[in-house]
Amino acid sequence: MKFMDKLTKSPRLNTLLRQMGIYSFYDVVYHLPRRYDNYNLTKDYDLEDKQRVVLLGDVISLPKLNKGSRASLITFDFMDINKKFFRVIAYNRPYLLKTLNINERYTIIGSYDKKRNEVDLINLTKGEIEKERALKPVYSLPSDYPNHLFASLAKRSLEEVSGHIYSLVPAYFRKKYRLIDKETALRYAHEPKNYEEIRQSLRHLKYEEALTFSLKNQLIREANRSLSKVKKEPIGLDICEPFINTLPFKLTNDQRQACEEIIEDMNQSSLMYRLLQGDVGSGKTLVSFICLYANHLRGDQGALMAPTDALARQHFENAKKLFEGTKIKIALLVGSTKTAEKRMIYEDIEDGTIDIVIGTHALFAKAVKYSSLGLVVIDEQHRFGVNQRIALANKGEHADMLMMSATPIPRSLALTLYGDLEISTLTSFPSTKRDVKTAIVDSNDERIYTMIEHSLKENRQVYIIAPLIDYREDERYSVEQLFARFALKYPGKVGLLHGKMNIEDKENALNRFYSGEVPILVTTSVIEVGIDVKPANLMVIYDASNFGLASLHQLRGRIGRDGSHAVCLLTHDDLSNEEDIERLNILVNSEDGFEIAEADLKNRGPGELAGLKQSGMPNFAYLNVIDDFKIFVVARDDATFILKNKTEPGFTYLVDRVSREINEDDLKKG
Ligand code: ADP
Ligand code: MG
Repeated sequence: MKFMDKLTKSPRLNTLLRQMGIYSFYDVVYHLPRRYDNYNLTKDYDLEDKQRVVLLGDVISLPKLNKGSRASLITFDFMDINKKFFRVIAYNRPYLLKTLNINERYTIIGSYDKKRNEVDLINLTKGEIEKERALKPVYSLPSDYPNHLFASLAKRSLEEVSGHIYSLVPAYFRKKYRLIDKETALRYAHEPKNYEEIRQSLRHLKYEEALTFSLKNQLIREANRSLSKVKKEPIGLDICEPFINTLPFKLTNDQRQACEEIIEDMNQSSLMYRLLQGDVGSGKTLVSFICLYANHLRGDQGALMAPTDALARQHFENAKKLFEGTKIKIALLVGSTKTAEKRMIYEDIEDGTIDIVIGTHALFAKAVKYSSLGLVVIDEQHRFGVNQRIALANKGEHADMLMMSATPIPRSLALTLYGDLEISTLTSFPSTKRDVKTAIVDSNDERIYTMIEHSLKENRQVYIIAPLIDYREDERYSVEQLFARFALKYPGKVGLLHGKMNIEDKENALNRFYSGEVPILVTTSVIEVGIDVKPANLMVIYDASNFGLASLHQLRGRIGRDGSHAVCLLTHDDLSNEEDIERLNILVNSEDGFEIAEADLKNRGPGELAGLKQSGMPNFAYLNVIDDFKIFVVARDDATFILKNKTEPGFTYLVDRVSREINEDDLKKG
């Protein structure tokens, strides 16, 4: 295998590649384009406003820099081959000043502004483009990694790995679905001659992904079926009533029903594998506490795993309060727990002194040995891998599993994705009714400040959310810049919290916000998961169209949690951007998490290769769980067929390979 240092001649680019997790020619080849720019020239000259145009012509004036307050703007004049004249404007591309040559020929793509006869530049390339090359791949890259350089690295990489690319799809199914071979599929993805080649490429990659995903799930299920638990005396919700009566509020009907379903499942001799889904604030935590209580009554230990230290801590504090009147011993185990304390907790878990342990991944570190683990609750399940269950099984733990998620997955989809997963749903909210109003405002709207001041006057708390952008950092809304902006305006009142801070600083920031000492928190979507600060009644989300709708919905679930009136402001730089505003309006008009999740998934345009990173679904590289639903269904049945015939020579490679992957996933978690 050829590694990194040899990938490109530039040490700078090599560093960038490393940062992207690209170490070999294989990694390059599997870094597929995010989209394609179509450079086929616009034929019809009856241009409409906002139309996307592709023009071939010459740059006829030196590019000029107009430095505005917001971003650099470069303009130049352009005469196309039919002697039509355009002014071209380009935002944030200072390098054009050096690279554009006057009187040289370029092909440009842009959006046409009819009133001004201007082209807002999207992309450009030198010279004329052959028809066969008109679809140019656009990759997700750091802003200082030029796209065309990655494209040529991809071309070179394809040559390097040629002859060494194998499909995981067995020949039988490749033939059945007339899939092109894998190497060709990858080549078509990077260098398509036309849309049909992209389609053929995706057919292979998507099916392969769906098939391995289904097979993995089914293998895990098979392994889990063979596990069973020691049969216990059946328990019922009735024996939990004395505890339920001590709770500060009455259970909603949905909560009660979910508890019944879960406990019923815990009574079975096979292991429980259940998803508890319910919108943010529907009260899932309480349900899990009651089940942990029931599990304690049957004599077993329980564990509750959360994705972040902060959330684990919050659950721990809650649990301490709710279980105060019981004999239950609870411990908190997170990454930052001091070593000496950890060791003591390990001992107490092993000898059964601790009944319920709450924490993060640390709960399943190799050193942790449970004396009798009966129930594992995984909060915000979508933040973890799909294979947590097998990870536990491999540790010798035969525990029931309850996963909780605020991302609503339509039932049919969940069943196809997860197979034998059982589902309980909380659709109603606890008595405290939510009153959160959502509005879209211009990023510079002064009313943002008025509203913040209003909240502060009422002793309320405010979240300011910065968009989390992978590569394309827009400096104006980076979490640091927003912090600076607000800290200047409200000295001493603003806290900062983001993923790159160290644990102590994070905790500090969070505690000061919890206590109300610092009433404004500037943060990223890290707070999306479960944070519960009751007095918070205002949230300003900057550059909101950068988020998935489901994420935005979860974010705004953080405010108005005590039932009082709350406002969520979604900001955008350009309120005339109809597409973005229309999408954001879905949130303004709906509070139904299911509806929003579905709208979100449907909204992702076809041909977009990026995965569904924010949607809470498993992360697929090529598949879109809504659009490609049929592929999932087919692949699921094919996986079943393969497992039934797994000793067939044509299938053994795939089955071995996927089994190995499952084990490797576990090792990574260990
Ligand atoms: P989520 O489903 O988003 O995890 P939580 O479990 O955090 O929701 O619950 C949201 C809030 O509602 C918490 O403050 C919790 O104490 C409160 N809560 C839960 N159940 C009830 C209930 N039956 N009546 C009133 N408040 C409740
Ligand atoms: Mg929660």
